[in-house]
Amino acid sequence: MKRKRIALIAHDKKKNDMIEFVKKNRDMLIQCDLVATGTTGKLIVDQVGLPVERMESGPLGGDQMIGAEIAKERIDGVIFLRDPLTSQPHEPDITALLRVCDVHNTPLATNLATAELIIQGLLNEEL
Ligand code: PGA
Repeated sequence: MKRKRIALIAHDKKKNDMIEFVKKNRDMLIQCDLVATGTTGKLIVDQVGLPVERMESGPLGGDQMIGAEIAKERIDGVIFLRDPLTSQPHEPDITALLRVCDVHNTPLATNLATAELIIQGLLNEEL
C-alpha cells in the first residue's frame, strides 16, 4: 500500500488535543508521511518524536501551503483541529483550506471524533 500523506493543523487552544491524538495514534501515524503547519509540526516533533515536514506557521501562510499540496492532490487526508470559539487573524486562509478539500474530495476532519475515523479509514486497505 502506498504511504499516506496526512496534513495536521491545530489552532493554539487545540494543540494539546492534537498532541494527545498523535501520541494515541502513534503506531498508525508512523506509517504515514506527516505534513503540518509550523508550530503544530514543531510540537509533534518535540513532544512525540515523529518526523514531520513543516510548512510556515498557519497565520504566516502555512494553511495556504497545505492548501496548495491538496490542490496538487498530494494529500490523502487533513486533520484540522480548529478552535471554534476564537476568531483567527487568518480566517480567509482557513476558509480556503476547507474549500480546497471539498474541491478535491480530500477527507477532512475538524474534530477528534472524525480524525480517528479518517486515519483508521486511510490505513485500512479493505476500505
Ligand atoms: P501553527 O498554525 O501550527 O503554526 O500554529 C496553525 C494555524 O493557526 O493555522
